[in-house]
Amino acid sequence: MTLARRNAPGTMRPSDLLIPTPAGLWCPPADVYIDPVRPVARALITHGHSDHARAGHGAVLATRETLAIMALRYGEGFTGQRQEAVPGETVRIGEVDFTFVPAGHVLGSAQIVVESGGLRIVASGDYKRERDPTCAGFEPVPCDIFITEATFGLPVFRHPPAHAEVAKLLESVRVFPERTHIVGAYSLGKAQRVMALIREAGYDRPLYLHGAMEKLTEFYLSEGAQLGEVRKVVAAERKTLGGEIVICPPSAIQDLWARKFPDPVTSFASGWMRIRARARQKGVELPLIVSDHADWDDLQATIRETGAGEIWVTHGEADALVHWCTSVGLRAKPLHLVGYGDEGEVDAVAEGADAVAV
Ligand SMILES: [Zn+2]
Ligand SMILES: [Zn+2]
Repeated sequence: MTLARRNAPGTMRPSDLLIPTPAGLWCPPADVYIDPVRPVARALITHGHSDHARAGHGAVLATRETLAIMALRYGEGFTGQRQEAVPGETVRIGEVDFTFVPAGHVLGSAQIVVESGGLRIVASGDYKRERDPTCAGFEPVPCDIFITEATFGLPVFRHPPAHAEVAKLLESVRVFPERTHIVGAYSLGKAQRVMALIREAGYDRPLYLHGAMEKLTEFYLSEGAQLGEVRKVVAAERKTLGGEIVICPPSAIQDLWARKFPDPVTSFASGWMRIRARARQKGVELPLIVSDHADWDDLQATIRETGAGEIWVTHGEADALVHWCTSVGLRAKPLHLVGYGDEGEVDAVAEGADAVAV
């Protein structure tokens, strides 16, 4: 990252620069909110998942891809004004400098560097460190305070390499050539990443897609994602798709929709699949541990890389991560922000009827 660390001692207090409020993280000197969960006059949005990117703000500053994703999901009128944040370029609002830096989470995802009066805080949104062929990789930014999620902030969560999980899927397809493999994956990011990994593994048959994922997948394709031939599932043709791979929203794997395929193998690509009980409870026969969030080791590695002396934890397993930070001599606190969580479940609601109807 090109943002060099400043030497000047700070004059700005952290609590003057960013404050947790019920609407989200508020920056009073610029009067902007980061990923607000309620409508505000001016919002800075880290990425397009619906727990972070909501419609109805007066103005939105976000990357070009995130703005496009919001328009796809909510319609062109999702905000009064939109302003594109170019990664690595600083935008000054009031006396505060804001810089968007890739977060490696989904296409267009960014951390937001907030800097004023010699104090630098990085609000990282959601992020991961594992390579993802469909989005720019996370770039650590040296900072005074690092704000992190903790979705998988427990020692039990250590994600295996995603390509090894996808290899399990392809092996199952080889072993059961008559069965349809139905892979549940979140509509924004996970679905396209799984498809790209399937292609990287050399699978070259068409991939079949649930209709609810079509718009976002077309957007990824238009942005250069290497997904090969993708076909929309036509309801009447489901019984002819034995031996094929179908990607659908997680909510669809237990639907009647899924039972119309020949002897389906239900699969789900998620960090939560590390918990066997969760896989069983969702009726998942082939759990794939593929996550777009940092695991326990990567949360720690990232915190150390930023060199921050103080850590704020937004959502997820905040207490466990705060405890670890404290144990290694860092100041740390949970922000208790509400409204963030499992984006798959939130997104399924955001997409409404078309997520389940097709
Ligand atoms: Zn997210
Ligand atoms: Zn999130």
